[in-house]
This record gives sequence, structure tokens and C-alpha cells, in this order.
Amino acid sequence: MSFLLGIDIGTSGTKTCLFREDGTVISSALAEYPMYQPKPGWAEQHPEDWWQAVRDSVGRILAETGISGKEIRGIGLTGQMHGLVLLDREGKVLRPAIIWCDQRTEAQAKGMEERIGRERIIEYTANPPLPNFTAVKLMWVKEREPEVFERIHRVLLPKDYIRYKLTGEFATEVSDASGTLLLDVANRSWSGEMIRHLGIQRDWLPRLHESHEVTGTVHAQGSKETGLAAGTPVVGGGGDQAAGAVGNGIVRPGVVSAVIGTSGVVFAFSEQVKVDAGGRLHTFCHAVPGKWHVMGVTQAAGGSLQWFRNQFGDAERNVADLLNKDPYELFSEQAALVEPGSEGLIFLPYLMGERTPHLDPAAKGVFFGITSRHRKNHFVRAVMEGVAYSLADSLSILREMELKVSEVRVSGGGARSPLWRQIIADVFGHDVYSVRANEGPAFGAALLAGVGTGLFASVEEACEQTIRVAEKCRPLGENRAVYDRYYRLYRKLYQDLKEDFRLVHRLVADHHG
Ligand code: ADP
Repeated sequence: MSFLLGIDIGTSGTKTCLFREDGTVISSALAEYPMYQPKPGWAEQHPEDWWQAVRDSVGRILAETGISGKEIRGIGLTGQMHGLVLLDREGKVLRPAIIWCDQRTEAQAKGMEERIGRERIIEYTANPPLPNFTAVKLMWVKEREPEVFERIHRVLLPKDYIRYKLTGEFATEVSDASGTLLLDVANRSWSGEMIRHLGIQRDWLPRLHESHEVTGTVHAQGSKETGLAAGTPVVGGGGDQAAGAVGNGIVRPGVVSAVIGTSGVVFAFSEQVKVDAGGRLHTFCHAVPGKWHVMGVTQAAGGSLQWFRNQFGDAERNVADLLNKDPYELFSEQAALVEPGSEGLIFLPYLMGERTPHLDPAAKGVFFGITSRHRKNHFVRAVMEGVAYSLADSLSILREMELKVSEVRVSGGGARSPLWRQIIADVFGHDVYSVRANEGPAFGAALLAGVGTGLFASVEEACEQTIRVAEKCRPLGENRAVYDRYYRLYRKLYQDLKEDFRLVHRLVADHHG
């Protein structure tokens, strides 16, 4: 028996998981670290903190299980995408990493669009220049910190900094590289055009691999610092979305996932590069060799319910404490008592602006249609329904792009709620499956390590042999009809309110800077 290790460099912490060959979790450990916000809208982390968290979590797993590093067959890395890690000639970190959720780069994204042209950028990279992409952050450094820019020797993504610390290799893989805006996603190679237009150097960028390929082995220093065995293969791994999708078995045409985490994602496998001309969906390389994926994002999915719970859920939290239950479970049970459509209460989940389908940072959350009959459980149900409508927006773009949708799998914290799963099935008009609890991206990364080290013949085979689909939820005919009508109204509301969102956005900016 041998083991596979998945390491996930998340935003709140690093989660390291040890799996048996058949996918069973043996042990997992989380080591947290802070996110720094030195100015409003900035978000930074110290790459050294990630490395320390890897050392802590790996050390704990080895100590707890008594398994020696030698028994680990391969390691897969995954983590937050888009982050910018800069190293100097000595391999030292030049400045704190600017991470995915940092918002300082709107001007640079606009500047890139003006200089190069939105259509050209989509042609080169399959995606429009959104402020969170790595290359846009790099342009901020170029403009605002020229003394740092001058000393750049390497540009890495978060998980690839860990690869460097473990193996000494400067390497990445195509799924994570897709979120840099420097990758020619169609050809799975760095984009010469983008490199030229942005005035950066080709040799700053790491060597590119497919996600399952071995990128190097743990070197002596990496072994000394972590307890992992020198010589252990480290495969490419994947960006958190692509690796998470592998962990959910989204590796065949027609299989689509809906993730209700803090943010929400609809993720579809694609045999070809399919680009949404409006740039509403991301088109990225998949962690399956030679394949792609298309992905839509709801900024505040589970985050909307979390906000509601934090602001209005004290009573539920107290009761949940007494019953030793999760307050979300109580919320969900109470909302199930309300009829579909929440008696005309509609929620627009744009608490943090919206990515798909509107690409509108000024969009705002809305409860529409409140009457004196509405009670708290109507609001909870309306939040769940609004999030489902938003995910359905992504699904309808997939259909516009003629991507096949034959099976939907739900995951993420929100998928724990049977009601939310039923709402998704009803709003999507599709059977919805849930995948037995797994460790998300860390599991996908470990499966990729299994493929790269020859344990499985392919990513598809790895998924078939290890993933168990737990439950199926069928859409109910009578609910479908109700949701069809409310969904149309939901879509119209954004169009009607769009200008007013801008207005209120400006008013707030004028008053609060
Ligand atoms: P993250 O994306 O931060 O990893 P998770 O996948 O853990 O988040 O999802 C967290 C969200 O899941 C919460 O904000 C909440 O909205 C939702 N959630 C968690 N548990 C439940 C539950 N039992 N019922 C409904 N929603 C839940």
C-alpha cells in the first residue's frame, strides 16, 4: 500500500491531506495564516507563511499517522489562483504576494485593455483582462514599485512557490497558469504576444507542464524542512478550481459542477477551447491533459447566507448551540417550510458586485417584493433561491456556447443542505448529484499525483476508481414551473436596476471615499 499527499495553499490556511491509493482520507491537517490589508482593497500574504504552514501541516500528518515520508508515492500541489509571487536572483521573495482578491488593479486592467485591446487580449489568452489576473498585478508593480520590478528574476503562482521550496524547480502547470493572462490557453503555452506587449521577460516565467506530469522531486533541503523523503515526485497539480473539479469527477463532456462555497462556481469540462465572446465565463486549461474548462463565478453564494446568518441569525445561533447543531442546518430546515418562490420575495445576491454574467463590480444585493407577510424563513429561502438563479445564469451561458450539460454535481458547504440541493435541481431543471464528502482541491491534486506516478492510467481512470457519487436529487415538476417564472423576473430586475446600482455606488464613493 502506498499513499498520496495533496497540499492546498488556501486563502485562510494550508490544508494538507494524506490519502490511501483508493482515495480514502487517512489524515488531514490545516495550518492557518493571516491575510494583510495594509490599505483598503489590498490583499497580501507572505509566501514564507505558506511555506511554514506546509511544514507544520505535513509534520503533523507524519507524526499523527506514523507513516514515513518514504511510503508517500507522490505529492500534488493546489491552491488559490492568480496570486503574484516575485523572487530575486537569489530566490528571495521581493515583496509580499498580491493575492487573488486584491482590488488595487482596476486602473491597470483598464490600461491593458486600452493599450492592447480587449478583443486582442481575448484572442491571445481566451480571457478579458480582469483586475484579479496575475499579469495585471504585475503591471501594478511595474508602475508603482519600479525598484521592485527591476529586481524581478522569477514570477510564480502561490502553489508553485511551494514547489520551488520543496524541489528547487521553477515550474507550473497549465490550469493555474491560465489565470495569469500570460498563457495562450488554446495552445497551452506562454503567450509571446502578451509577454511582448507587457514588457516582461520570458525567462521570468516558470517551465510549463500538464497538470499530472512530474515537475521534480523533493530535494535535500525540502526533505530536511518537511520530513518528506528526498526523491518523492511532485506533480504539477492544479489551480484550486481545476483540482477541485478533478476531485469531483468533472473530467468528461457533459459533467458540470455547481459549487456553493463562499463564492459559487459553475464549472464545465470542454473538449475544445470555447470562448464566450462577452468574457462572462473564464476559459481555462483543465487539469486533464489536452482538455479545457469553462467556468462562471457567483461572487457571494454561500457568502450571502453567511452574511444573513451573521446579521440576523443570533436567535438561530443560540438555539443551534443548545441543540448542538449547525445554525445553517436550522436555517435550512425552517426555509424548507416555505413554498418555492418565497411568496414573491426575490433576492439578488450581488453583495460583492457580480462576476458572471454581469461583470459589474457596482451591482448590489437586493431583496425585492417584501410584504408584511414575509417572515425570516422566507428571507432565508429567498437567499438560497437567488444564489441558485445566479448559478443558473452561468449554466445558461454554457448552453448558449453549446456545451453539453448531461449531469450536474453539487459540492461546497451549501450542498450540505438538502433544501439547497433541491432548489438547484428545480431551478436548473436537472438531476443533481452530490459527491460523497471529500477533501476538495487537495483530493484532486493527490489524484493527479497518482496519475503522474503511474498508479492510475489517466485522470479519468483515477476519478472512476476513487469517487463515489452519493445522492441524486430530481427536479420536481410543479416547482420547475414556479421557478421558471420567478427566474425570468430575477433576470429582469438586474436590467431594471443596473443604472441605479451605479448611482448608489457613486453616492457611497462620494460620501465615504
Ligand atoms: P469556502 O468556499 O470558504 O471553502 P465552504 O465550501 O465551506 O466555503 O462553504 C461555506 C458556505 O456553505 C457557508 O458560507 C454557508 O453559506 C454554506 N453552508 C455551510 N453549511 C451549510 C448547511 N448545513 N446548510 C446550508 N448552507 C451551508
